[in-house]
Amino acid sequence: MELEFHGAASEVGRSCIQIRTDKGKRYLLDVGIKFLEDGLGFPKNVLDIDKIDGVFLSHAHLDHSGGLPLFEHKELKGPIFCTRHTFAISKILLKDSYKIARIRHLHPAYNNTDIKEVQKDTSFVDFDKWYKHEDVRFMFLNAGHIPGSAMILLEVDGKRVLYTADFNNRKTNLMVPFKIGKVLREKPVDVLITESTYGYRELPDREGLEKKFIASIYKTLGEGGSVLIPVFALGRAQETLIMLSKHDFPVKIYFDGMSKKMTKKIVTTKNKYLAGHDALKQMFYEKVEWVASEKRRSDALKKQGIFITTSGMLQGGPVLSYLKDLWHDSSSKIMLMGFQCKRTNGRNLLDEGFVYMDGWKTKVKCHVEKYDFSGHADKEGVQTLVKELKPTHVFFQHGDFESVNALKEWADNNADCKAYAPAVGDKYNI
Ligand SMILES: [Zn+2]
Repeated sequence: MELEFHGAASEVGRSCIQIRTDKGKRYLLDVGIKFLEDGLGFPKNVLDIDKIDGVFLSHAHLDHSGGLPLFEHKELKGPIFCTRHTFAISKILLKDSYKIARIRHLHPAYNNTDIKEVQKDTSFVDFDKWYKHEDVRFMFLNAGHIPGSAMILLEVDGKRVLYTADFNNRKTNLMVPFKIGKVLREKPVDVLITESTYGYRELPDREGLEKKFIASIYKTLGEGGSVLIPVFALGRAQETLIMLSKHDFPVKIYFDGMSKKMTKKIVTTKNKYLAGHDALKQMFYEKVEWVASEKRRSDALKKQGIFITTSGMLQGGPVLSYLKDLWHDSSSKIMLMGFQCKRTNGRNLLDEGFVYMDGWKTKVKCHVEKYDFSGHADKEGVQTLVKELKPTHVFFQHGDFESVNALKEWADNNADCKAYAPAVGDKYNI
């Protein structure tokens, strides 16, 4: 077989790997996009899209799924395999990204019909079951990253290939973590393609971090301030709700933005790997106040409260309405919940203490904290996977240059396998 990396190789974004089998069949693992300053980046050099025999979609995040409407536009005909949760969630994300692209005049090369075509071509798979398509056998395994997320195990040309996509082997409130199960132990994995997002560092202890996060909320409330928690609609929003559900805060918790729609989809779609389903459902329907209008926002802001809302990097969404009210309050706190990209409001706030609101550069007086509640495995998690699976070939991708090369160097010296840190456009014969 031949592997070709069309994206997410020594970079994060536009995940897309082609497997060409000995019989000449072509399959794609993910079709993602990359957010660039001047628009969107798509997988590079994917030729004859109408002749692709199938797509395996690992999860709903746009850097894995966002290129599908464009590929439909270019007459993709093969089925798109994914789990039910991934389908339900990517529908919301794709529609939203299309709207944003139009508002910002990013000119996506596709239209709304293409998003509908993606849905028509989708074929659902259950976790932990073997399926057959053309000359490949495959199984989706729980990846523990976000609801619906899967690792994809393929048997092709007499070899086993495991594509981890994004995975998490550490316990979170929302997801059952990834574990090496029976199916991965019964036969050796010949080719491992793994993510490397945190390839160069270890993440903080999860339980300790949660305690620190909750203590910090109590401290601010005790000092008379409010707490603003900007969240990513998928994953972090639900994780935050479950963490807060374990406590009885003396103020109301308000839930706003796209995360409402997302949470509803998540609690109403069946998934055996959603660990926090009951707590999330109860919190969402019974304990938080939903907010959906400017009037409700300004009413909510009249009193002390905990405000959870999108977007996670303060680049848009209702979070800016809350910020307009709270920025000058030195007793209030903004709690960032994950990585902040360069040149976003979130990053500016973290590094230099300012944000842009209505075009004005505004110095924010609130306390600012950042918590790394990541949905990814860290350096140790990826290394453990390689050590336990003992593949013949390991490809480190979905990480910046520093991350993939740190892992390749580690594997060269510590693991008995051939290690690669591919660049976009690289092809390998296995
Ligand atoms: Zn992801």
